Amino acid sequence: MDQEKVVLITGASSGIGYQTAEKLVKQGYRVFGAARRVERMAGLTQLGVTPVYLDITDEDSIAEMVQSVIDQAGRIDVLVNNAGYGSYGVIENVKISEAKNQFEVNIFGLARLVQLVLPHMRAQHAGKIINISSMAGRITTYMGAWYHATKYALEAFSDALRMEVAPFGIDVVIIEPGGIKTNWGLIAADHLRDSSKGTVYEQMADQAADKMQKTYTSNRLSDPMVIANAITRATNSPHPHPRYLVGYGAKVSV
Ligand code: NDP
Repeated sequence: MDQEKVVLITGASSGIGYQTAEKLVKQGYRVFGAARRVERMAGLTQLGVTPVYLDITDEDSIAEMVQSVIDQAGRIDVLVNNAGYGSYGVIENVKISEAKNQFEVNIFGLARLVQLVLPHMRAQHAGKIINISSMAGRITTYMGAWYHATKYALEAFSDALRMEVAPFGIDVVIIEPGGIKTNWGLIAADHLRDSSKGTVYEQMADQAADKMQKTYTSNRLSDPMVIANAITRATNSPHPHPRYLVGYGAKVSV
């Protein structure tokens, strides 16, 4: 690499983000890993990743984190927007406050981060923003309305952003993972169970949550490294690839 490129990855304390940070630091990038559970990034720190605290629902936290990266590295070449979770539950049951939190994490926090990073990328006349969407941003299943809504929103947001920032030499890439073996499914199953407890949907939700838990603890799903590889390909590629669909037995770049 001619110049050490700086990558900022949100949600680097576990799953896809953790493995991506590990892979990119090993490839010679200067990597900043952001999450609330900074202590979970101790292993990454040993490899050379710089952990930074981030609560993506808190605007001050986002601003402080970006400033800290700029103070330390002076630039951000690649932003990987990966932090997210699945707020599963039937529409009749999920509290609107929880639905708002789902949007805060998966969309509004991400959007605020993009707003704060773009001036730096524009000043550099280059940059790449990689947004981790999902197959759930293209296909809807029941009991996942709010999660799907955030990922569909992220698809549209990313496509609009790509057109707006292309004149400044900035690329926007969407990655759409299928089912990946991380804690994501266990957290989503907990949301599903909790939101339906004591309601007419309880049995249906419990059955779906059991199935989800079984799937996410089985070996049927792809390893997070599959997505880390796709993010790395997108990071390294000199050519624009608007979308990568990965991890559903399919590896497609469109
Ligand atoms: P994990 O649960 O393993 O990781 C989620 C990450 O998001 C954690 O590092 C967590 O950090 C971070 N995060 C959650 N809330 C916040 C917050 N408020 N502020 C800052 N960081 C936060 O799941 P995955 O690795 O699977 O998920 C990564 C992305 O991939 C998500 O956007 C998810 O929707 C997407 N995805 C996952 C799929 C799967 O099957 N696993 C499929 C398709 C897409 P911390 O809690 O420490 O703050």
